[in-house]
Amino acid sequence: MNQTPKGKCVICGKPKHERYKPFCSKRCADVDLNRWFSGGYAIPAIEEREPGGEDGDEPESR
Ligand SMILES: [Zn+2]
Repeated sequence: MNQTPKGKCVICGKPKHERYKPFCSKRCADVDLNRWFSGGYAIPAIEEREPGGEDGDEPESR
């Protein structure tokens, strides 16, 4: 039989499930997935932009 020493869930450290590896369960997989989404997709909802910047957007200036 194959017994791998590194058979632990990366989230909680329990023996991982073959179906959900490298996690022990779907829950741990979800946890990791949520980490990804919250960390990787941290897009600022509001983009700070000053109206009338230094670009000279105003046509009246000329
Ligand atoms: Zn786990």
